[in-house]
Amino acid sequence: MICLKNGTYIEWQTFEQIPLDIWVEEGEGASFSFKPPDNIPPNLITIDCTGRYIMRSLGNAHQHAYSALCTGMPQPEVPPASFVETLQKIWWRVDSALDADMIRASALVTAVAAAKSGSTFVIDHHASPGFIKGSLDIIARAFDEVGISHLLCYEITDRNGLKGAREGLAETERYLSQRQGLVGLHASFTVGEQTLKEAVALARNFNTGIHVHVAEDGADENHCRQTYGKSVAERFAEAGVFELKGNIFAHGIHLNAIERRLIAKSDTWMAVNFDSNLNNGVGAFSGMGLGPRIMLGTDGMHGDMMASARTAWFSGKGYEAITPARVFQRLQMIHLYLAANKIKGNSDNNLMVLNYDSPTPLIQENFLGHWFYSLHARHIEHVIANGRLIVREGHLTTLDEAEVMAEARIQALRLWGELKN
Ligand SMILES: [Zn+2]
Repeated sequence: MICLKNGTYIEWQTFEQIPLDIWVEEGEGASFSFKPPDNIPPNLITIDCTGRYIMRSLGNAHQHAYSALCTGMPQPEVPPASFVETLQKIWWRVDSALDADMIRASALVTAVAAAKSGSTFVIDHHASPGFIKGSLDIIARAFDEVGISHLLCYEITDRNGLKGAREGLAETERYLSQRQGLVGLHASFTVGEQTLKEAVALARNFNTGIHVHVAEDGADENHCRQTYGKSVAERFAEAGVFELKGNIFAHGIHLNAIERRLIAKSDTWMAVNFDSNLNNGVGAFSGMGLGPRIMLGTDGMHGDMMASARTAWFSGKGYEAITPARVFQRLQMIHLYLAANKIKGNSDNNLMVLNYDSPTPLIQENFLGHWFYSLHARHIEHVIANGRLIVREGHLTTLDEAEVMAEARIQALRLWGELKN
């Protein structure tokens, strides 16, 4: 058990401030209380939180651990001229080169970045066509070691032929028979009819949803209309995707009004990634007609959800009628997604302690002003995941962070070497 002493708890939906000690129970599914337990356990960890704010920790609704070793990597001699070329010249070369050691290093780096920036839950979308079988176990173990809860999937695709698709389906089935997860698809334009059908059947069997990139770039929609004579959402509707529960559609920038209605009517949640969209120049997201089930992700760009929310507000307000409150709701929507789908690892004993010496008064009514304009991940001092202290005074408690980074640099060089070939 952990006791957070003398801090101020900020309720994540009302921003009410509660200046009481918090007693955090350990274990998945457990909670916290403002009242001390009848019997104080001998292994109690007490943390002085004087002047600190305590909040629900965050979660990332769309992440790619596989890109974690790409920071600073050599770029193609001729820069990609389109989104599809960016995939072909960069990301599909990276994911194809990944082996077990690189996947593990990537996952550890991703989990450490999440933990240190206050995210205790990551929904990841993984691809490693050269090392498919067992890849999800490597990521799950790495996340477990850091103490980050997860909902993983393998990015099934026909881009390496039907054999590659089969292996992706098999890895998904193998993993879902042991752990909670989703059925991952790359995107409509790299998934043929047979593979789509089998992926939907797999999701139905495991009572889970499909996690897929949808209309990230106009090319996805164009390909679908040219090949199948319909939009991406209409194609997915006919394949039975919308009869599934807990689907996650990433991006959704180029959706038309009919597609938005189909999505809003179903149990499909959007995961939008503003930093990534700006970086790829694929256009701007608007939630118009999509309903309230919109979450935020980072799409492999970084692990900092506070930064992600800031970009969502600053870049989003030019394209749709949003407010800081609406963007903050989207940031927190992952908690509702995980609860609605009975996903483990996201109960109330997931918390972060902010060391924020506020330059102006912080009250319930102006919390969002502080959140978007003054609070940053650097203010996160401690992070508690499933009642366990995984970050203490800004440092990971579960693994030797310096060792993780040293190994990641070795694996990054190996990966970059492969890309030259
Ligand atoms: Zn993505």
